[in-house]
Amino acid sequence: MLVDSHAHIDVRLYDKDRDQVMDRAREAGVAAVVNVGCDLDSSGASIRLAERYADVFAALGFHPHNAAKMSDSDLERLAELAQHPKVVAIGETGLDFYRNLSPREDQIEAFKRQLELAHRLELPVIIHCRNAQEEVLSILEEWARRSKQAGQPLGVLHCFSGDIGLAQRYIEMGFLLSIAGPITYSSSHALEIALNMPLEKLVIETDCPFLTPHPHRGKRNEPSYLSFVVEKISEIRGMPSELVEEHTTENAIQLFRLPL
Ligand SMILES: [Zn+2]
Repeated sequence: MLVDSHAHIDVRLYDKDRDQVMDRAREAGVAAVVNVGCDLDSSGASIRLAERYADVFAALGFHPHNAAKMSDSDLERLAELAQHPKVVAIGETGLDFYRNLSPREDQIEAFKRQLELAHRLELPVIIHCRNAQEEVLSILEEWARRSKQAGQPLGVLHCFSGDIGLAQRYIEMGFLLSIAGPITYSSSHALEIALNMPLEKLVIETDCPFLTPHPHRGKRNEPSYLSFVVEKISEIRGMPSELVEEHTTENAIQLFRLPL
C-alpha cells in the first residue's frame, strides 16, 4: 500500500482519462492520493475530486507562482473550504526564487499568511522551495517554534532538493522530506537524502503531471508511477521495497492523519 503525498490530478491533462488514471493507481497499490491546490480554483477542484473519489484527499493553498494573486478574501475562502472533512493540509505554499512568477515580497507575504492559517487550523503544511533555501528555512524555523505539537509532523518539504545538513535541520524542526521522480534520474541530490535520512522521516510523491520518473520521463506523470520511486529507494538502500512502502505509507498517514 502506497500514498502519493503530492499530486495534481485536477489539471486538464487528466480530463479525458481521470477515472482510468485512478484505476491504474489502485492497481499499482496506491491507497491514497493527496491532491494539492495551487490557487483558489485548484483548491476547490481538490475538494471536488476528494468528494468524487474515496481515495483522494485535498490540500488547499496558493503556490508561490500565484502568490501575487492571493487576496484577503481568497485566504478567508481557503479557511472556509478547510472545514471540509477531506482537507488534510495547507499547501502548496513556499517560495520560488527560480522563476519569480510573483514578486518576492508577495511570495513571502502569502507564505507567512498560509503558515498562520495552517497554525490556526492545526493542519500540516506542504512546502515548495526553489532557489530560496535560506529564506524558507528562516521563515519555517520561526513558525515551527510556535507550532510544534508533540509527536505530530508539522509538514513536508515537497520534492526536497537541499543537502544533508539542511535535511537534518528540517527533521529536527519536525518536518518530513518528500522524494519524487527525479530520484530516478542519474545525478540527483535526492539520492543522498533517500540513502542517508531515516526512513521514518521520508514520504514519497509523484507531483504528477510533472517530474515523471524514468523510464517514462518526458511523458505525463501519474500516481501509478509512484512504484518507480519506491523501487529506486529500495535499490539504493539495499532493502526490500515492501519496507520502503510500509514506512513511507505510515509516515504519510501520520502526517495527514489519513483514515486508512
Ligand atoms: Zn506540486
